[in-house]
Amino acid sequence: MKRLLPVVLVHLLFLVSPSFASRPIDFTTHKLGSDREGNTLLVIGGIQGDEPGGFNAAALLATEYKIKRGSVWVVPNLNFISIIKRSRGVHGDLNRKFAKIVRSDPEFDTISKVKRIILDDQVDLVLNLHDGSGFYRPTYVDRIHNPHRWGQSIIIDEEKIEAERFGELGEIAKQITTVVNHNLFSEEHSYHVKNTWTKLGDMEMAKTLTYYAVRNLKPAFGVEVSKSFPTHKRAYYHLRVLEAFMDILGIEYERSFSLSANGVKKAIYNNVKLAFYDNRIFLDVANARRRLGYIPLRKSAEIVYRPSNPLIALVESDEGYRVFHGNRRITRIYPQYFEYDFSTENITMQIDGEERKAAFGDMLGVQESFMIMPKKGYRINVIGFKRTGRSDESGVIIGQEDIMRRFSVDKSGNIFRVEVYKDDKFSGMVLVNFSGENDNLIASEPSDDSLFDLSAKEKASFGKDSATSSGKVLNLGR
Ligand SMILES: [Zn+2]
Repeated sequence: MKRLLPVVLVHLLFLVSPSFASRPIDFTTHKLGSDREGNTLLVIGGIQGDEPGGFNAAALLATEYKIKRGSVWVVPNLNFISIIKRSRGVHGDLNRKFAKIVRSDPEFDTISKVKRIILDDQVDLVLNLHDGSGFYRPTYVDRIHNPHRWGQSIIIDEEKIEAERFGELGEIAKQITTVVNHNLFSEEHSYHVKNTWTKLGDMEMAKTLTYYAVRNLKPAFGVEVSKSFPTHKRAYYHLRVLEAFMDILGIEYERSFSLSANGVKKAIYNNVKLAFYDNRIFLDVANARRRLGYIPLRKSAEIVYRPSNPLIALVESDEGYRVFHGNRRITRIYPQYFEYDFSTENITMQIDGEERKAAFGDMLGVQESFMIMPKKGYRINVIGFKRTGRSDESGVIIGQEDIMRRFSVDKSGNIFRVEVYKDDKFSGMVLVNFSGENDNLIASEPSDDSLFDLSAKEKASFGKDSATSSGKVLNLGR
């Protein structure tokens, strides 16, 4: 997958430390498509941090869909800090703060910003993605299939609103369930419309994002997939619902993967990559070892990286950085700091006997062996190369057996780092992949993602997984 992350449009920036810039962890907004003549759909994922079906579906929409007509705006990671901490809400339930919020609430700015996006004139319809318990049924069937459950439902706050278009919420929700119910893995998974009749006095639902939108005459729906499924199946169903809504809005799109359980699984878990400093370092961490040592980060400079998808977060931790992908901790990066050399962008290699140029940031598939062509003034370091005693490892034919397996980037022992230095300065890195796959992550646009700064308290609580405790969670929806 060679797709670029779309331009990240919303970012709060403030400098904290003198040695590098940090940002508070914050949500991103991705604006896809540009045809202002068409309709605009706004999709929100991750309002609660422990609902990975919703935020993974939204992230796939942001990175793997191309909008051909109309527009789709995606906020895939609204409650990003809670996502990486695997908590419903580290500062309480974000979806209960839309009616009233005090200025001192740590989420005041988040709420203000997302409200502005929701009420943007261009937005025609709003979807808030959730993973809910059990299976909603209009009448009681059994303990997990009944009116108090949330899974597999399209939620409306009232039957219709006085919006100029798309105000027939009940009718639209019905149409969506009809379409999606043609693509179920099992009859049990069928979708129903759930009306919370919020205006008639549901105090909890009156505090939610969708009701805020609806009160402002903006058509909005809650979308609930069942927590009974593994993440990729939840995302699959969410994407079915999203595509059904896009069809109703006349939004045309292309998708880069097949919409099947397996297609979605691969799309979620294979695309976990990071590029630092405009690709001088590229790490494919989809299957990374738990610790990656001696990563040549830039001395006394802001740490600038670009993730391959918006659920990736780099969080400072003792001696290094933790890499998160949504709810998952991927790896830890232990840096070694270098001055950087910017005098070259590439090296020449022989791969299985064939000569080719490799730009920094490339990952090159190798069948048998590779050799880095000597380059005057530069020194090559193949990380883990067994034959010691050389300062420059160019001009040597190297096979997989010549590199110590424990130095691979990936757990399977296939991906290795080739680093280029000029005197004591680091110039750049390419990866060689003995499983044969070529890839890269082209940071052609200025890098705009940076280190997330957490308060000491937030850092401290990373030790334990702060998954929502059970108890009253049982029927907690949206
Ligand atoms: Zn929810």
